[in-house]
Amino acid sequence: MTTDNAAAEDSDNFRFFGLGGCNEVGRSCHIIEYKNKVIMLDSGVHPGLGGMNSLPFFDEYDLSKVDILLISHFHLDHAASLPYVMQQTNFKGRVFMTHATKAIYRWLLSDFVRVTTLFGGGDGDKQADESPNNNAASANLYTDEDLMMSFEKIETIDYHSTIEVEGIRFTAYHAGHVLGACMYFIEIGGVKVLFTGDYSREEDRHLKVAEVPPTRPDILITESTFGTATHEPRLEKETRMMKNIHSTILKGGRVLMPVFALGRAQELLLILEEYWSLNEDLQNVSIYYASDLARKCMAVYQTYTSIMNEKIRLSATSGEKTNPFQFKFIKSIRSIDKIQDIGPCVVVASPGMLQSGVSRTLLERWAPDPKNAVIMTGYAVEGTMAKEILAEPHTIPSIVNPEVAIPRRLSVDEISFAAHVDFQQNAGFIEEVSPKKIILVHGDSNPMGRLKSALLSRYSSRKGTEEEVKVFNPRNCEDLLIGIKGAKFAKVVGLLAESEIGLVREFLEKKENESKITEVKDEDAMEEVKTEEAENELQAKDNGAQVTQDDKFISSGIVLSGVLISKDFDMNLLQLEDLQEYTQLTTSFVKSNIRLKIQASVSLILWHLEQMFGHINVVMDEEELWECLIMDMILVSVDKSTPATGLNINVEWINNNAMADSLADSIVAILYSVDSSPASVKLTSKTHTHSHIVKKEDSGEVATEDKKGHQLSDISSRIHRISTLLKAQFGDAITQLDKKGAVVKIGKAEAEIDFTSLQVKCPSRVLKDRVENILKRGCKLSAPFSTNQKEI
Ligand SMILES: [Zn+2]
Repeated sequence: MTTDNAAAEDSDNFRFFGLGGCNEVGRSCHIIEYKNKVIMLDSGVHPGLGGMNSLPFFDEYDLSKVDILLISHFHLDHAASLPYVMQQTNFKGRVFMTHATKAIYRWLLSDFVRVTTLFGGGDGDKQADESPNNNAASANLYTDEDLMMSFEKIETIDYHSTIEVEGIRFTAYHAGHVLGACMYFIEIGGVKVLFTGDYSREEDRHLKVAEVPPTRPDILITESTFGTATHEPRLEKETRMMKNIHSTILKGGRVLMPVFALGRAQELLLILEEYWSLNEDLQNVSIYYASDLARKCMAVYQTYTSIMNEKIRLSATSGEKTNPFQFKFIKSIRSIDKIQDIGPCVVVASPGMLQSGVSRTLLERWAPDPKNAVIMTGYAVEGTMAKEILAEPHTIPSIVNPEVAIPRRLSVDEISFAAHVDFQQNAGFIEEVSPKKIILVHGDSNPMGRLKSALLSRYSSRKGTEEEVKVFNPRNCEDLLIGIKGAKFAKVVGLLAESEIGLVREFLEKKENESKITEVKDEDAMEEVKTEEAENELQAKDNGAQVTQDDKFISSGIVLSGVLISKDFDMNLLQLEDLQEYTQLTTSFVKSNIRLKIQASVSLILWHLEQMFGHINVVMDEEELWECLIMDMILVSVDKSTPATGLNINVEWINNNAMADSLADSIVAILYSVDSSPASVKLTSKTHTHSHIVKKEDSGEVATEDKKGHQLSDISSRIHRISTLLKAQFGDAITQLDKKGAVVKIGKAEAEIDFTSLQVKCPSRVLKDRVENILKRGCKLSAPFSTNQKEI
């Protein structure tokens, strides 16, 4: 397992797990996991392997966990195991690709089904020989029916549109490479990931180049096909290719250009068509495009000119030519028989890896003649004939009879039109995208390793800083964990946004040139709903606005409080009143009240409450009813109608936090002790001759106190007070009570209280706290007798 050393607690780890396409090119399939959401990126086959061996390592992962599967483009090494995943495994997620990818995918894969059926194991005859089990039965990974059933379930995404599935948001951006190819910008629980798929940054004859998404990702998963290699400049390689073709034809030779049926092939055809139109001497030489599949897909190319680049869109709408993909010099043919193989010609044929089919047949036919030429324009995958032929072997094996060695005398040239970024382009893109973590995929070990070193040295000056860049090149089935720092974002919405954001904005405007984001700390605002994230710091941002500045923020010191609602990773901070508008939650209040009867006057009650809470907010004082609100939480109502038999008192509060409950508790305890309080006796009897530092409207007296004279009586009154409070609180739970102390037993917990030392022995933390609070209160209530409250 590879672990980023910043890896935090488990739940905050971002996990990358490659099922294919890691340290290899082929069978791309990567799993990313964060906060229990699972996304699969691509689902390809390995062109150099056959049958079940060509699949990604699906057995190594429980595919039923996958929420969504995003396909970057139609190439077989990115999409061809999709019907298998959808129809033959326990996968039950949703699948997305662009419209154009889906349109081509259909034709491409039915061709793939046909080819694998014909050749019994895809292009990997070698594998079939090595492992007999890998033949016939397993050769067909899926049927035409599987393909059609899966096709119907595939959903599409437009470029620049964002789709949200169970809290996972993803947006498609142009990737260049081939028609329909896209990058996915994915947001899961605040973590932003950009998956490039295969991409190109070089403007060509029909596609847009890959875009840099507007938002900075935390993690970039990028291809590394060409590692640190540099592409030959576009113009030079086109010139070199056309010179090669032209001279081969002048010599009377034939030119074979093996291509993957779709993608680069269309680009090459555009180049050939243009060259032929400019060179009359070539116009009687035939260019064949031998692909039944491509013929079917031409309609797709003709349909999707709207998502291609300016050049194509202009020529498609100019009216001069109906469509750039309706060629004048290129003959699209269904089969090899249509080639008039009697003299110089150019054949653009699939498959690109020369494993079977038209391109292989022509290679074998033309290999012995030195006048002929094969031009390799794509990326050659390990283990394929395309890779072998580049080494210019003396002979090649016949596909029909591998015993037969066919002499190879035709010239072999590699002029790469592979639409993958080279080092300059990849590094430039990475620079613009600016991620801190980079995961390299889709590259053979060596070029990938070199790219990793080159990137690390490029960013070496950032080592040890906040902006340090880390590069990972995990192998297939190797766990990579990346710790995600717990910065949490909450959007402030509704009334709260309207009222409070104004304050923040005002503050920010003062700090003109600084960041637009304000840090706020959410405090006790999350009582009502899910509170897991409560302790995290929040960054408040405006309603719907993007976070524009990295992790930069300034502390305004402004505190926002509201209800924190968390749904699928989104966190909204709002006022309780807005709850129904922004969520499907409803609120309810639990009200509690306690009724008691006391022999005392309202003024005495008020006096006692004031001793405890300072100023008391009297909200009602009428003939029969007196009410006060304590700390804005507890309403004490006194019914004055029956003074003779005692006052009926109602204490009422909403149980919305622990504070209100304990506050109500102490108020009730105070009320219970009002009529037996020595202070009450003194006040009501008015027989005391000295007064206290207490302001009392009734008496109006203020004097200093004779402290010594009170000491003894203080202690005994304290014990009496505490005993009373304990009885009020615990009643029958008091198993023992005398002048020295008491024992309270609730359930299994037992608390021993020593009245002299005021110590509580109790193994239960909760009970201990509760008893200690009562002791404190008992002491406080006797405080008015002393000017020096420190002694308690
Ligand atoms: Zn590709």
